[in-house]
Amino acid sequence: MKQNIIYSVVVPLYNEELVIEESYKRLKKVMDTTLEGYEIIFINDGSSDKTREKAERICSEDENIKLVNFSRNFGHQPAITAGMRVSAGKAVIVIDADLQDPPEIMLKMIEKWKEGYDVVYGKRAKREGESFFKKFTAGAFYRVLKSMTSIDIPVDAGDFRLIDRKVCHALNSLPEKNRYVRGLVSWIGYKQTYVEFVRHERFAGDTKYPLKKMFKLAFDGITSFSYKPLIISGYLGAVSFFAGIVLIIINFIKCISHGMDVVNFQFVISIDFIMFGIVLSCMGIIGQYIGRIFDESKGRPNYIIENIISRRGDEKKNESVN
Ligand code: UDP
Ligand code: MG
Repeated sequence: MKQNIIYSVVVPLYNEELVIEESYKRLKKVMDTTLEGYEIIFINDGSSDKTREKAERICSEDENIKLVNFSRNFGHQPAITAGMRVSAGKAVIVIDADLQDPPEIMLKMIEKWKEGYDVVYGKRAKREGESFFKKFTAGAFYRVLKSMTSIDIPVDAGDFRLIDRKVCHALNSLPEKNRYVRGLVSWIGYKQTYVEFVRHERFAGDTKYPLKKMFKLAFDGITSFSYKPLIISGYLGAVSFFAGIVLIIINFIKCISHGMDVVNFQFVISIDFIMFGIVLSCMGIIGQYIGRIFDESKGRPNYIIENIISRRGDEKKNESVN
């Protein structure tokens, strides 16, 4: 008998020929223990190795597998976005293919979901087998992002997480392109919690996140949730302007008390500071406008309604996204 799909496990794959079989085995073993219906969605993100052939073989042998082949490499975030869009489960779990995120932790996430949480993210208590550089840059990035935005995006958490169907629905309705999915999940809200896990070494192969892709992700994260970088020039401008004013006053007092000409080298420098300050402040103001245009262009709704309750009993549930 065909079971209803309760869980969708989304697995992005980019040149993972060395891990896909082991990954499939471990995921299947864990999901079978739930005794509930599930699907595993492989997103083959334009792999150029044997990932596609191997995924197609697994798919032909197991009806719980769905395979989405991209026409080229679009990237990790578009891959998990596609996975969520084709998913059918009541809960959707995103997990990396390389077994750095232990599949067994999915069961803990499911437990929390059954307790009533809508988002359960994996918090990396410890990262094993990764270079000092990777750990340092990742740690610094999460903290810089946190300091720049008013949304509470958890630090040390990647995309390994479970989300309820209603969160997935809200996520799927967002039209923006350069997506920083983990940030969007925080932005959506609902009842969120985490489970801690130790992030292991990659099962095999090398990272598919070279520096260039890491920078792209970091910029997407910062620019999607903060326009502080656009208005930094405004702050610099204010500092420069006031420094110029102070310098000109000091110069004026000094010259008057010594009976000297006020127009001297320090005077010219002070005027420079003031003019430069005005120009930078104007750029900061333009930044404010560009930030607002950017916000509008992202097309995010102003709010997401969880439910509407009235005493007349015509309760409207969760799905409303405005
Ligand atoms: N990935 C992808 N497209 C890409 C890069 C990565 O689908 O362009 C997948 C990759 O196959 C893996 C996950 O995203 O399942 C995370 O990548 P990786 O493990 O290489 O990143 P790291 O853990 O080193 O940050
Ligand atoms: Mg990895």
